[in-house]
Amino acid sequence: MVYTNSSIQTFLTCNRKYYYRYIRKLRKKEERPNASLRYGIASHMVFESLLLGKDTKLIAEAVALQFSRWLANATTEEADDIRTECASVLGMMMAYKKVWAAQTAQMQVIFTEHVFSLNFDEFCIKGKIDAAVRINGEIVLMEHKTALRAADEYFFALDIDNQISIYTAAMTDMGLEPSYTLYNVVQKPGLSLVNVPVLDENGDKIVNDANGKRVYTQRGKPRQTASKEEGYTLATTIESYPDHTKRVYETMLADPDKYFMRRPINRLSSQIHDCFGEIANIHHRIASAPDRPSCWPRNKAACTQWGRMCPYYGFCRANTMEPQGDDFETLKNPHTELEEERSTILAKEGGQGVGGLDKEAWPM
Ligand code: SF4
Repeated sequence: MVYTNSSIQTFLTCNRKYYYRYIRKLRKKEERPNASLRYGIASHMVFESLLLGKDTKLIAEAVALQFSRWLANATTEEADDIRTECASVLGMMMAYKKVWAAQTAQMQVIFTEHVFSLNFDEFCIKGKIDAAVRINGEIVLMEHKTALRAADEYFFALDIDNQISIYTAAMTDMGLEPSYTLYNVVQKPGLSLVNVPVLDENGDKIVNDANGKRVYTQRGKPRQTASKEEGYTLATTIESYPDHTKRVYETMLADPDKYFMRRPINRLSSQIHDCFGEIANIHHRIASAPDRPSCWPRNKAACTQWGRMCPYYGFCRANTMEPQGDDFETLKNPHTELEEERSTILAKEGGQGVGGLDKEAWPM
């Protein structure tokens, strides 16, 4: 029996969902990543590549390539969101690079994206560690996360986070016992495209009267402000993707403590011991449960996550294993995150057609 932190979290969230996903190994064929997952995957590419000292423009191309793959399978409604997300990730990347430049320069990378396996008598735990580095001679485990909000309570919860305990044990098992985990969190900027003034060839704003005629001052210069009383309106257009990249960059850089956090998290051997006690307990519950859906409790509080309905709702509602159309496939390995394919950071391919790729506009 193989467990990952993700499969354990699924079990804790909804036993029935765990059953469909990890015992019956069912996955919806068209399981497209949602906005949170897309942002998380692209951000991980950025964190890893910057840590490895890759060229920013190459990273941007790889990020754009990744987004263009999602764009190729997107619905019309999703397409604009995906372009905006790409532009946002590029802005975040440049701000992140600047904020952490000095600290990154002090890190020596031991590995990134390393898959491990911790073997026990009855089961094994697998996972992928984001990075291990040396800082001032100390071995440090690095975990990258993106969050909607990363306030103090976000970090308090890490004291009981089993993922850190599992990864610390895995590193120790490799002979690389970490002194601590450096939790690297980026709070998503949450900015949408906005309307911006249309500028003429001289960089002046355009103000029109009620008849759509451009308004000039008494001195013959283009008026720059609207006026409700006089019926003058400012001509606007939707922000371009490169402009959005720039605005995200400037917004995040203006308040780095809000958007970029790194905190050391310690692990005692007693915490690691408790973690494996919990997992052994979970294993016994899973191993002893009959292979029938009705024996795996449902949790209706988990049916909608990140704005999406659980993909197993059809099975779950009918309380059956009967196929729900041919939408589902049976996977050989349900732990897909361990073999997830991503754009290589050295990708030279296009990525054209995705927002934010006007390199001249990057504030680098
Ligand atoms: S639909 Fe809800 S109760 Fe059913 S498996 Fe999914 S999360 Fe669990």
